[in-house]
Amino acid sequence: MDLRYTDDQLAFRAEVREWMAANVPDEPLPSFDGTRAGFEAHREWEARLNAGRWGMVTWPEAYGGRGLDLIRWLIFEEEYYAAGAPQRVNQNGIFLLGPTLIDYGTQAQKARFLPPMANGEEIWAQAWSEPQAGSDLAAVRAKAVRDGDSYLLSGHKIWSSRAVMADWAFGLFRTDPASERHKGLSLILFPLDAEGVRRQAIAQINGETGFAELFLDEVRVPVENRVGAEGEGWRICMATAGFERGLMLRSPARFQMTARRLVELYEANRETCGPAQRDAVAQAWMAAEAYALSVYATASRLIAGGGIGAEASLNKIFWSEMDIAMHETALAILGARAELLPTAPAAGDVGRWLDGYLFSLAGPIYAGTNDIQRNIIAERLLGLPRA
Ligand SMILES: Cc1cc2nc3c(=O)[nH]c(=O)nc-3n(C[C@H](O)[C@H](O)[C@H](O)COP(=O)(O)OP(=O)(O)OC[C@H]3O[C@@H](n4cnc5c(N)ncnc54)[C@H](O)[C@@H]3O)c2cc1C
Repeated sequence: MDLRYTDDQLAFRAEVREWMAANVPDEPLPSFDGTRAGFEAHREWEARLNAGRWGMVTWPEAYGGRGLDLIRWLIFEEEYYAAGAPQRVNQNGIFLLGPTLIDYGTQAQKARFLPPMANGEEIWAQAWSEPQAGSDLAAVRAKAVRDGDSYLLSGHKIWSSRAVMADWAFGLFRTDPASERHKGLSLILFPLDAEGVRRQAIAQINGETGFAELFLDEVRVPVENRVGAEGEGWRICMATAGFERGLMLRSPARFQMTARRLVELYEANRETCGPAQRDAVAQAWMAAEAYALSVYATASRLIAGGGIGAEASLNKIFWSEMDIAMHETALAILGARAELLPTAPAAGDVGRWLDGYLFSLAGPIYAGTNDIQRNIIAERLLGLPRA
């Protein structure tokens, strides 16, 4: 891995910076999990990004991308976060399903689903977890019963992020009723406004409804909505999970931005901070930089033809624990002010830290809990016996 940027990469960075300076909204958009207006404002932002061909720079040009490599995607992300651009309401689509379709979808699926994903016309939710199938995802019971050229989807999905307002979901279903565990599962795409879909919002600790439960009762979808061969769902979903844990979902730029904000917070409160807080801020900065270098190494390996394997689990534990530590440090610096909600009149910018802290607590749970990642590391990287 060469740690120097090429002239082309530097020119690309300048181009992204210029576009962001001209296009990022001056005021933060309202949360996409709070209100329909906030959700739609983020959808409009996706359309604007796509109009500049910045929706997903790594996708092929034919589907709205620029056909660029992962190093340029990392550069793009750095400029995106540095510009304070809005969070990506379609992250399940562009970062998870999109790369999965590019690798496993048919030409027809790519042509049908990628362009409206890129421009935000269709916002996606991931419908994998079930009440009895979270960590143990192979226990999925939701079924897809073949009926001529269709599947009838039935079952109960839960914790589906954005599904309260999203347009489509990609779900894991049992297509072979006699199958058990990882076998006989298929990845199937379904519209969330289809007959037979009932969504029930779940309120989070911050009062927003970032998740939904989905109750599916014989939802009819064409067989062409299945990604990959019937029964291949587990293998394909694990590839998606690799993107999620190891690379796409949490780009280093996000944590480098948090580290920068933390340094600013420390500087603004230097006189009330002790050495423990100073050390924690320095640690946070180093951790964010270390994570960035590690992701650059992963990206370089992928560009050279390698894959993402069990080491994605190391990444996932690292970023989720780092995020909590950074927010805990911020709360410690803020003292009693840390308890101000973002909406409190006297909160100013401070409330973002509490909000971020509450979300950081979910990091060790989503994308596969950290306990499960430790099991994977123990078995597959360290070769320890199964518990
Ligand atoms: C913010 C957030 C967003 C999410 N978004 C989505 C989404 O969009 N789509 C979706 O499908 N799901 C989503 N999820 C669900 C998430 O994937 C599950 O919560 C997660 O997989 C854990 O499953 P569970 O909640 O059923 O907990 P359980 O599996 O019941 O686990 C409970 C506890 O037991 C531990 N445990 C379980 N099995 C083992 C084991 N074998 N060894 C050691 N410890 C174990 C777990 O680590 C956990 O601490 C999201 C969750 C969160 C918090």
